[in-house]
Amino acid sequence: MRLSQHITQLTGNGSDGWEVFYRARRMIAEGHAVTELTIGEHDILTDPSILAEMDRSARGGHTGYAMVPGTDLLRDTVAARVQTRTGVPTTRDNVLITPGGQAALFAAHLAVCDPGDVGLYLDPYYATYPGTIRGAGAIARPVRTLPQDAFHPRAELIEACAEGAVSLLINTPNNPTGAVYGAETLTGIADLCQRRDMWLISDEVYDTQVWEGHHLSPRALPGMADRTLVVGSMSKSHAMTGSRCGWIVGPPEAIGHLINLATHTTYGVPGYIQDAACFALAAGEALEAQVAAPFRRRRALAMLVLGGQNTVGLLPAQGAMYLMLDIRPTGLSGTGFAHALLDAHAIAVMPGESFGAAAAGHIRVAMTIDDARFETALRTICDFATTLAGRNAAE
Ligand code: PMP
Repeated sequence: MRLSQHITQLTGNGSDGWEVFYRARRMIAEGHAVTELTIGEHDILTDPSILAEMDRSARGGHTGYAMVPGTDLLRDTVAARVQTRTGVPTTRDNVLITPGGQAALFAAHLAVCDPGDVGLYLDPYYATYPGTIRGAGAIARPVRTLPQDAFHPRAELIEACAEGAVSLLINTPNNPTGAVYGAETLTGIADLCQRRDMWLISDEVYDTQVWEGHHLSPRALPGMADRTLVVGSMSKSHAMTGSRCGWIVGPPEAIGHLINLATHTTYGVPGYIQDAACFALAAGEALEAQVAAPFRRRRALAMLVLGGQNTVGLLPAQGAMYLMLDIRPTGLSGTGFAHALLDAHAIAVMPGESFGAAAAGHIRVAMTIDDARFETALRTICDFATTLAGRNAAE
């Protein structure tokens, strides 16, 4: 039977860049000790106090259908958090609670793209982006960012691709590059969106993981609140990846339609998860800092280790839980390097190419194992790269 293009074209054609990840998983299943630095999941679990609130809520009866837009309390809590952090007036009418940031990304694109419209996204990109845009029926068009700019976008490169585009998806702090976009970059993007009458979809799920500079939400820029949909999530900020709780913040009209979409798709988020999210957000920045602390520490460790050699380039890791390493001196592609590293040292990293053509010759290292093993792995990666680069230079 014929299946719709909506689903058969979600992942596009050819390699999806996850071969190293699946090879590592197979090796682990066969009993090999593999150092896993591929995936963006904390090595700590959801805080017991959040679980206790989840338990209290569920046992207290919050296990039936919850309000589809989100509970009033959680929508108010998210609105207050956003207003405090950005200064933009925000109420529950600006907020839809979603089952995680990924569902929010999909819903946001469905809200602004018609079939055949062009949705822009920046390369390198988080793995699901092009499929999410295609899933909404739109044409996913990448815009390159450059390694020499540490992958910060240039408005003129976006402009050059903007013909016919109705939306632009950005992500700051960025996965996989670690870039945290500054005021100038975001102002350029805001200006472009207004001139071209485009929506901005701003993925801010790493907003609590900033190591350098400040997180700026482009919704706060003049004229942007009416054309920006912000995607947020409890996953990264509170180590609640499995709870599936996120949100979209945007203009009330768009949120109204997005609530209709939720009624016809997800039918909301479990009430006991929403209560746990309220509790976690009420714990304030101290809990967020506690969840972010291991990544802050390991990033500092990485700067020390990588500062002691000059083969592997560390891109400025300004935020999020990954390091982007430039391994081009080895003469290998990111994919070639990642496979060779897995073969030689049983260390699994993501090839840059999995995140788009712009990240060729790079690898992404997740900072998600304990400090001692992390440091050892980084030293091994550097030594391995130095040996390969020596051979490359001799050829
Ligand atoms: N955006 C980015 C950039 C991500 O890295 C992720 C998860 N890795 C998500 C969105 C989705 O996160 P979740 O659905 O768990 O909120």
